[in-house]
Amino acid sequence: MKYVLVTGGVVSGLGKGVTASSIGVVLKACGLRVTSIKIDPYLNTDAGTMSPFEHGEVFVLDDGGEVDLDLGNYERFLDIKLTCDNNITTGKIYQSVINKERRGDYLGKTVQVVPHITDAIQEWIERVAVIPVDGKEGPADVCVIELGGTIGATIFSRHNNNGILDAGDIESMPFIEALGQFSYRVGPGNFCLVHVSLVPVLSVVGEQKTKPTQHSVRGLRGLGLTPNILACRSTKVLNENVKEKLSQFCHVPASNIITLNDVTNIWHIPLLLRDQKAHDAILKVLNLQGVAREPDLDEWTNRAKLCDSLHDPVRIAMVGKYTGLSDSYLSVWKALLHASVACRKKLVVDWVPSTDLEDTTAKEAPDAYKAAWNLLKGADGILVPGGFGDRGVQGKILAAKYAREKNVPYLGICLGMQIAVIEFARSVMNLQDANSTEFDPDTRTPCVVFMPEGSKTHMGATMRLGSRRTYFEVTDCKAAKLYGNVSYVDERHRHRYESQVNPDMVAKFESAGLAFVGKDETGKRMEIIELPAHPYFVGVQFHPEFKSRPGKPSALFLGLIASSCGQLDALLQNPSQPNKHIPAKISSNGVFSPKVYPNGHQNGHAYKPVKSLVNGNYYANGNGVHV
Ligand code: GLN
Repeated sequence: MKYVLVTGGVVSGLGKGVTASSIGVVLKACGLRVTSIKIDPYLNTDAGTMSPFEHGEVFVLDDGGEVDLDLGNYERFLDIKLTCDNNITTGKIYQSVINKERRGDYLGKTVQVVPHITDAIQEWIERVAVIPVDGKEGPADVCVIELGGTIGATIFSRHNNNGILDAGDIESMPFIEALGQFSYRVGPGNFCLVHVSLVPVLSVVGEQKTKPTQHSVRGLRGLGLTPNILACRSTKVLNENVKEKLSQFCHVPASNIITLNDVTNIWHIPLLLRDQKAHDAILKVLNLQGVAREPDLDEWTNRAKLCDSLHDPVRIAMVGKYTGLSDSYLSVWKALLHASVACRKKLVVDWVPSTDLEDTTAKEAPDAYKAAWNLLKGADGILVPGGFGDRGVQGKILAAKYAREKNVPYLGICLGMQIAVIEFARSVMNLQDANSTEFDPDTRTPCVVFMPEGSKTHMGATMRLGSRRTYFEVTDCKAAKLYGNVSYVDERHRHRYESQVNPDMVAKFESAGLAFVGKDETGKRMEIIELPAHPYFVGVQFHPEFKSRPGKPSALFLGLIASSCGQLDALLQNPSQPNKHIPAKISSNGVFSPKVYPNGHQNGHAYKPVKSLVNGNYYANGNGVHV
């Protein structure tokens, strides 16, 4: 096994995850099998309890692991399926060491950070790196390890501006020490360190400044890690003299200094690495030159160019709670993008805070209310993603009602499906007090109920998590057709409540026009709903976004986008070949021209100005992280 460690320096939000994933893509394109590990030095055992508002979405794996969203990047870029152990946290490591100590495995020794925690980290990496993740047997050739956090920024000065050692530095220390030992343990030729850094440009003189990178590399070396390759984020390509300077002061050959300049979409990053021969540099360090072939990135090249050439928009209103941080729904956004590219449309996502659609906002903040409804009414399709808690639920119900009544394509995911069922029961079946017991435990008409797989009384670990099977009850429905007329699908879940339809009421629901087209193996859990008479109104209890891939868009997202741009009928004729419903010739207009929408907002970014993947810069999502 060969290891590529990716660290980050100077500032956070450099796009280390995307860079590490892209390194994986290029190595895979060289014919190597690649896996990945993400290290998050925080104390949480997993990302399950972390707020999406603070930390971005919780990504869910097949095995039910609730992990950092960077694992989503790896899965999408490398088309692999990771396990929860591929995300290492301080919490997990300490828990494993403490469990061992309680079992008496340390034979009376004093248990310490060095060597016990550092050994546990190294053993964990070696154990997980050999788990096959690409559907083939046997271990991968290369494991890309991304170390979360920043090295050498505050470490160098030891203190941040407040004179306090940065929390992240303290948390990272055991991992840095362990990785230093690990590089020695696996030996030269098996370990390559790529340090992602920043080369800022001073706007006054336009000069590319190397000092932050120099400091960061010095910090890294001081901690026992020697970079083999520097990947420098900068707005423009690094000047040769700047590379020379970095080479001289950081002791890295100029040929191993790669520029990660701004690009129009992230699918260019693997191409950027390939063009600068980053793969050659990595393969040389890893002694893999004889094994690997020249990278074949035709598919990535075509997709990156195609994405740049799209200008005909499809506008999707995303009605949710965490609309301020686009990372909160990162996989949903990506899945929409994959589907839009397949339909040859430029994706425009309008983030609509659901509370703004509610009547109370009409009184308290009429402008916000008007803006939210304008966005909803201007959308080609509406998506209500997953969510927890009752804030903004009424707004989501109004959005589902609007989509149902006005024949606007709708995709409801998890909570978005539960909302649609409640709305249908209230408006169409006249069951005014229909509700979820999550929002009203005493509701007289519970149509969404607490339905854990395990204990009903115990609140911890009651989430239905990970891959579960859904069987199609009906073959003649849009969902089944979009999935290619299969009899079942395996998708990932993350929920406690479930739309439950009283068996006596099923007939009533169905005669009122709501079809339960997919159920679990017991037939008790409603997994997919559809309104057959509507152009596209689909709700799913699972999260199809987690399995969408750039070249393989998720079926139901494809349905939403196709229906939002009038392509659904053509798609349903040939659902197994997503792109075949589009005329082969695509627009050759490679220039993006901002379009002004009736509501006066360019590209529909009326709410929080979040740059879309298509027209934004690499990483530039307004938050500086994870585009
Ligand atoms: N809050 C709902 C539940 O727990 C929906 C969860 C979700 O949307 N992921 O069932």
